[in-house]
Amino acid sequence: ESAVVWFRRDLRVRDQPTFLAAADAAPCALALFVLDPALLGPSGAARRTYLFRSLRALDAALGGRLLVVRGDPADVVPRVAAGCGAATVHVAADFGPYGRRRDEAVEKSLADDGRALVRTGSPYAVAPGRVRKADGTPFRVYSPFRRAWTDHGWRGPADTDASTVRWLHPQAGDGIPDDDAVDAVLPEAGEEAALRRWHAFLDDGVQDYGSDRNRPDRDRTSRLSVHLKYGEIHPRTLLADLASRRSESAGTFRNEIAWREFYADVLLHRPDSARRNHDRAFDALPLASGAAARDRFAAWCAGRTGFPIVDAGMRQLRAQAWMHNRVRMIVASFLVKDLHLPWQWGARHFMGLLVDGDLASNQHGWQWTAGSGTDPAPYFRVFNPVTQGERFDPDGEYVRRFVPELRDVPGKAVHQPWRLPDGVPRGYPEPIVDHAAERQEALARYQQVTQAR
Ligand code: FAD
Repeated sequence: ESAVVWFRRDLRVRDQPTFLAAADAAPCALALFVLDPALLGPSGAARRTYLFRSLRALDAALGGRLLVVRGDPADVVPRVAAGCGAATVHVAADFGPYGRRRDEAVEKSLADDGRALVRTGSPYAVAPGRVRKADGTPFRVYSPFRRAWTDHGWRGPADTDASTVRWLHPQAGDGIPDDDAVDAVLPEAGEEAALRRWHAFLDDGVQDYGSDRNRPDRDRTSRLSVHLKYGEIHPRTLLADLASRRSESAGTFRNEIAWREFYADVLLHRPDSARRNHDRAFDALPLASGAAARDRFAAWCAGRTGFPIVDAGMRQLRAQAWMHNRVRMIVASFLVKDLHLPWQWGARHFMGLLVDGDLASNQHGWQWTAGSGTDPAPYFRVFNPVTQGERFDPDGEYVRRFVPELRDVPGKAVHQPWRLPDGVPRGYPEPIVDHAAERQEALARYQQVTQAR
């Protein structure tokens, strides 16, 4: 008699409630990861490679006993369960649109054979769908969600490690693939790296998080997004460690974790919002199209818009498969409000390159900027790339780090290269649009949405 522990977005051995459930159900268990082509394909090279590295770290933590099989989980999971005589397959619940469909299909084919899929926990401190308004409906706005989420509370970390379960020796699987070719420098993968990163941030970072988090030049955010994405560390662990710190900065950090939980909740209730406007009135927004729109999009993707803070962000995305949050907002605003392009184009480009690419946080981060999301930035707030740059990268260090053509421009002058006495430095583009004019254009276009209500 045995069980299967099927890993998905929880590539760790500590704080693993599924281990406790599996150990309760059977004396030994098989550790399984399924390489699902439906997920691997759209992942992009950075996330694929990171995943493979994280799997290697997990396999090592499990003493080389992780079975990795390629295929459709609805075929693979029941076959593996039958092969080891497992009555139960243990997972952390997935709340994404694809994950829910997949798990229902797996559950059904397991049930046909008299086996059960057992869901314990999720990648969130509070499972999406739990926190509701007094009338039972889901929250549509972040702040009341956060208050209710805080009141709801969460469990402490589960006390587990690799030895919580007696792991079976697997038969030969397909193995963990070699890394893809990736240009970006990726962070170290795996649970140990995630814990090291977290402890370093707790020791030196969290106390200044409130003041530093908006400064891309300082680069002092936690960089935990990729580790949370793959579940190398659980938000429960973070929240438990933060509980003893009463500082305002620790509270600000907790609020960011709450954004992640909020967006997962929104996506659960509105899976269509992964592709379409959450606020359907925005379907009336006139968007740019045609060859000129495509050219502008290409310039944005390449980090060649002529607006230094935008270009630095887009180049950081390529160099590190990551971008600072403040700059994500600036480049997204530029795409939507200066170039009048659909947020979906930008979201797709991000998902192709980000190592922390997460459907809920990404699509809703984009919709927040576009104004079509749950907590929209007021549509009339159009980020000015120059003042944003001067405010959040006051000495221009961030721009110079990622835009070598501007490396010799001192101080904050780097944010307006067209104003330099000798003109724009060689090799760097002139601005592709006039921001003041496009701002007016954006406001006129957004009027159409107001009228459509
Ligand atoms: P920290 O500032 O240290 O924050 C700690 C954690 O809180 C993050 O790791 C993340 O899990 C969570 N968090 C912080 N801000 C947000 C936010 N606005 N929304 C949701 N969760 C948040 N985050 C992703 O994880 N994946 C994405 O694909 C993604 N796409 C985004 C796209 C746009 C247009 C925008 C504006 C934001 C996006 N974010 C995304 C949110 C945010 O930019 C990143 O989580 C953050 O930059 C990651 O760096 P960090 O771990 O150092 O963040």
